[in-house]
Amino acid sequence: MRKIYLDHNATTPTHPEVVKAMLPYYNEVYGNPSSIHQFGQEARKVVDEAREKVANFIGAKIEEIVFTSGGTEADNFAIKGIAYRNEKKGRHIITSSIEHHAVLNTCKYLEGKGFKVTFLPVDKYGTVNPDDVKKAITGETILITILHANNETGTIEPIGEIGSIAKEKGIIFHTDAVQSVGKLGVNVDELNVDLLSLSGHKIYGPKGIGALYIRKGTKIEPLILGGHHERNRRAGTENVPGIVGLGKAIEIASQDMEEENKKEVNLRDKLWDGLNQKIDSIQLNGHPEKRLSNTLNVSFKFVEGESIILNLDLQGIAVSSGSACTSGSLEPSHVLSAMGVDPATSQGSVRFSLGKDNTEDDIGYVLEVLPEIVSRLRAMSPLYKGRK
Ligand SMILES: *Cc1c(COP(=O)(O)O)cnc(C)c1O
Repeated sequence: MRKIYLDHNATTPTHPEVVKAMLPYYNEVYGNPSSIHQFGQEARKVVDEAREKVANFIGAKIEEIVFTSGGTEADNFAIKGIAYRNEKKGRHIITSSIEHHAVLNTCKYLEGKGFKVTFLPVDKYGTVNPDDVKKAITGETILITILHANNETGTIEPIGEIGSIAKEKGIIFHTDAVQSVGKLGVNVDELNVDLLSLSGHKIYGPKGIGALYIRKGTKIEPLILGGHHERNRRAGTENVPGIVGLGKAIEIASQDMEEENKKEVNLRDKLWDGLNQKIDSIQLNGHPEKRLSNTLNVSFKFVEGESIILNLDLQGIAVSSGSACTSGSLEPSHVLSAMGVDPATSQGSVRFSLGKDNTEDDIGYVLEVLPEIVSRLRAMSPLYKGRK
């Protein structure tokens, strides 16, 4: 059976060049980077080289990059680390209602520990208004955390503007850039951020590796204690192959990004145009322009997204409803709810997220099978029939 993967915001295949770069660091250069002998120093060298690649991509200094086990850990580290370090100054955190669960649930956890959290609303495109951020700041605010690009809709937030507000008020600003690094050019100075999370497996790197950028001078409490790794900010023997893979993935992204974006935007818009021609009562979720070039979130009214996904899967097409973490539950997506999408329409949402290997043929195939699936499901829906 034909297999088409359109779920790149959940994870990506590891690029063959990345796998190739990683392999020697399992059984040839296997030293511990903390060891002073040659075995260790060889590993240390490649860890430092990868750190430089990550730093260069986001316009950071080498010592501002801390490797973590992924985006989730980077988010936890940023938020808890800043909260714990600054709780004597104040206990107020500002975030948005459309964050990834790694941020959302960390903020909710801190609420349970006595911190006050403001979850800012968004407009119908899922965009946070910088004025709302400004208004939410109090004398107690110690951290603002807003994601760069949303994983469900692809909407890109005005991080630079929010960052300059944070900077002006002297408040630490974190962004979860897991979906944007490697898809967009990301520069920590242009974005005015003090902390930034990124992850390997969303950009053709390996799973289980990520990084947190920490601006020089930003004091943060470490979460994982042990040895003196990562300048005392994150203990534990470095994931050398993973780190090498992340460095390589970022290097490839910086070379391919522009061309990939052009290709994906073209395919994505072909898909949207085709769906519009062939299926009635659909709606685009997310910003029409300020959106990741690979992401298309569509609500098919009068059907359940979950049923569409299962039916597409039977045809070898992989898509998802909202985030991978929420699929499997029938809760409407918190992101779409925050955008004011009504629960029924939200239930009918499907996220297509394109990647490097997708072709015109793939899109053609989806446009061949999906209209039939939707009309079959709608034929069983009393609501759809009642509408006519
Ligand atoms: C995937 C994702 C994460 C989590 O990253 P992991 O490396 O899978 O832990 C965090 N934030 C966003 C926006 C994501 O898309």
